[in-house]
Amino acid sequence: MLPKFTEFDKKIWEKELEDFVPESVFDAHSHIWSEAFRKNNTQNTSALRLEVALEDLHRWSLTLFPGRNMGYIPLPTPLKDIDYSGHNDWTAAEAHSAKSAGIPLPVIPTMLVVPGMDKEEISLRAERDGVKVLKPYRVYADDPKNGVITDFFPESFMEAADEHHLAVTLHLSKETGPADEQNLKDLERFTRKYPGIRWILAHCARAFNSVHLEDSVHRLAKMENVFVDTSAVNDTYSHYLLFKYFDREKILFGTDNVSAGSARGKYITFGYGWEGYFGKESLEHCDSRCTFIVYEQLRCQKQAAEMVGLTKGEIEDLFYRNSLKFFS
Ligand SMILES: [Zn+2]
Repeated sequence: MLPKFTEFDKKIWEKELEDFVPESVFDAHSHIWSEAFRKNNTQNTSALRLEVALEDLHRWSLTLFPGRNMGYIPLPTPLKDIDYSGHNDWTAAEAHSAKSAGIPLPVIPTMLVVPGMDKEEISLRAERDGVKVLKPYRVYADDPKNGVITDFFPESFMEAADEHHLAVTLHLSKETGPADEQNLKDLERFTRKYPGIRWILAHCARAFNSVHLEDSVHRLAKMENVFVDTSAVNDTYSHYLLFKYFDREKILFGTDNVSAGSARGKYITFGYGWEGYFGKESLEHCDSRCTFIVYEQLRCQKQAAEMVGLTKGEIEDLFYRNSLKFFS
């Protein structure tokens, strides 16, 4: 079931966001899911198991961003012990149903890649299903917290991705994510070794806490095939650092909708960490209701755009032109 959109959310949209979000929005990081593929998954309470077909994602996007021309990278949902093959078949088929769902901008076929999969399956789906984006995920590493990139995205997959010129939406693992020296060295090496791959580092290179981007942004900015999506990052300074030091044409707007991006709450940062705040406590002298994480993200992006003085054209690039160029 899709979230409820209330008068409270509408007020924030109308007062703060409506004038910032351009007429077209390409969501470069969203997820779809169907319980038909849950198989042996035991995460029964995981919010990620929210059933969202492409049609639902689109309907919800038009609720959040009324009247906008939408396009998507609808990623599969990276849960464990699911029917990977079935989920990948369905995810590609959903992308191909975009026209009949009345979605005006492109919808890009994607697939989940899990260690142990045959790299030929990547080639097959790239050729047969037109898959253009791979989705590995750290939960498939033996050590999901400290895994290096190859623990969940082995080089055999990179060879297939390189050959077929695929993009890879990569959520970095390890405690300091983009600031981790091993992650940075690996990215420097793999971008040189596999020039056919374009890496989309999810969540501003996983800079939920901007402290991890302060130094690394300068190194990431030098890597030719490294892009970022902005999904779910509620730290204004991360967006600012990207606008200031990263190639603005390599920043792709994304939401992490529906289950994560449209949870009612905010990611807050402290020390070297972050967590989701979902409005459990309230002070008596403020309105303590939460809106959606994606609206908090948009507030941050708007603030950062204001700080660096993005032009109207650059804001449009961020929301859709960069992505359209990426897939053209
Ligand atoms: Zn995601």
